[in-house]
Amino acid sequence: MRLGAIEAGGTKMVLGVFDGSLKPLNQISLPTLTPEETIPQMIDYLKEQKVDALGIASFGPINLRAASRDYGVILSTPKLAWQRYPLLSTFEEALGVPCGIDTDVNAAALAESKMGAAKGLLNCLYLTIGTGIGGGLYSEGQLVHGLMHPEWGHVLISRHEDDPMLHGVCPYHPNCVEGFASGPAMQARWGMPAKDLPDDHRAWDLEAYYLGQLCAIAVMTVSPEKILLGGGVMHRTSLLPKVREQMLKLINGYIDPDLFSDMEDYITSPALWPDSGLIGAALLAKKAFSSREL
Ligand code: ZN
Repeated sequence: MRLGAIEAGGTKMVLGVFDGSLKPLNQISLPTLTPEETIPQMIDYLKEQKVDALGIASFGPINLRAASRDYGVILSTPKLAWQRYPLLSTFEEALGVPCGIDTDVNAAALAESKMGAAKGLLNCLYLTIGTGIGGGLYSEGQLVHGLMHPEWGHVLISRHEDDPMLHGVCPYHPNCVEGFASGPAMQARWGMPAKDLPDDHRAWDLEAYYLGQLCAIAVMTVSPEKILLGGGVMHRTSLLPKVREQMLKLINGYIDPDLFSDMEDYITSPALWPDSGLIGAALLAKKAFSSREL
């Protein structure tokens, strides 16, 4: 079996081919231009590779309501050329093989839960902190969708009273996580990219305060058995311990502290990153293939 996988991102499209046991066989990357420019190249590659099924892990938001006529259509995105683009049906029609689609972060949560840092657990939250902030939730052994799919980056949080930035950078919300804690938020607040800020800069305590809030909200609402933090901003290894500390401080003992006895394991890094999304897409392809056989 040859499983095709697409990780559709705002700047690049990563395409991969895996065998039935998820061993990678081939991979390419293409710049994300307009659909008219990029999609035909993607279709040509997948046809050449003779894939038997395809999984798509896409930037969002996407319509993921199973009963909707627009299932698999990209919704309102700042990438205007892609707005309302029928991503799933385009590949289904062009390739004639079973196809599955989910958000890039849901796919990553799936991959980490099946084969990575949360293997064996039924409840895992995968968060990515980079140019944007997003999250995928694997809950009771299923990826969570619902009205659309959760939008972890736009959860509303409290601004720190010492934050020099009054309003976050999100055009929709003055006080959401992405607006206060994404890479562009750090750049806007401190006038330099996050990677150039020294370890002892107070930027990192503030960042941990916001990410700690997001983790505390996750614990209170969806009760994950593990939280994985990936994405460019998390390259700063000194940040993860600060986030753990902040989350515990904000929960303030309300949840049995014994449940957090191993915080290094509870909030940790994804094991498959940066390939979590692509591997998740291959898992979606495998699922689409098996569904067809039923
Ligand atoms: Zn927002």
